[in-house]
Amino acid sequence: RRLVSLRSVSKTFPNGTVALSRLDLDVRAGEFLSLIGPSGCGKSTALRMLAGLTEPSSGEIAWHGTRPEIGFVFQEPTLMPWASVFNNVWLPLRLRGVGKVEARTRIDEALAMVGLSAFAKSYPRELSGGMKMRVSIARALVLRPPLLLMDEPFAALDEITRFKLNNDLIRLAAELGTTVVFVTHSVYESVYLSTRIVVMAARPGRAVAEIGVDAPLERT
Ligand code: ADP
Ligand code: ADP
Repeated sequence: RRLVSLRSVSKTFPNGTVALSRLDLDVRAGEFLSLIGPSGCGKSTALRMLAGLTEPSSGEIAWHGTRPEIGFVFQEPTLMPWASVFNNVWLPLRLRGVGKVEARTRIDEALAMVGLSAFAKSYPRELSGGMKMRVSIARALVLRPPLLLMDEPFAALDEITRFKLNNDLIRLAAELGTTVVFVTHSVYESVYLSTRIVVMAARPGRAVAEIGVDAPLERT
């Protein structure tokens, strides 16, 4: 079953840069899809379009059914430094008017999922890079989104932390049954994490190949 399709989507920025040129991309329910390709090939632009953060210049974004709640994880954790871990994860719930009792349950659940239950009262500056990224993932998961979009989330982390978070992510995606679209320029990471990989070419910003990956052991 398809969740959403980008149909012949192009994007030209006001300064004339062509980021995408007639990109076709289906996202299937339940898959872990990686978008790979060289820097500047339009991966982030395609992801931001799925999130509704960027409008296509032409083409269309077709949702098969109603648009689900979407979680978005950026390359930088983008946490509020003045707010505790708990309050950072609370933000999306507050914006949607979720009541305090329900919110507490959801925040506790999200922090437990990323292994940070003991750090609810900590502040971002007290956490390691990997822990900050996990807070950012908890903040994305707290709305229990059927679709999780991640834009090179682990690019700034050291290799060991990255490996740990990759394993956490495989477990989370399997537990939650969340569809994930993951942007990376690491071929290793895409093969390790994904059920499907779409390769994009540098010019003119369109998909050129598709690779099916055997499901990682933890998901089978
Ligand atoms: P990737 O994620 O694959 O590195 P991006 O989607 O970030 O690629 O960018 C694709 C192209 O669009 C690049 O050439 C980039 O410089 C350009 N670009 C991205 N955002 C903007 C913007 N807001 N204004 C102008 N050019 C942009
Ligand atoms: P990560 O793999 O998330 O980057 P680290 O390897 O930096 O985590 O830290 C491993 C463990 O050490 C963490 O799970 C946490 O329990 C503890 N830890 C790390 N930084 C701090 C800190 N600033 N204060 C207290 N405990 C910490």
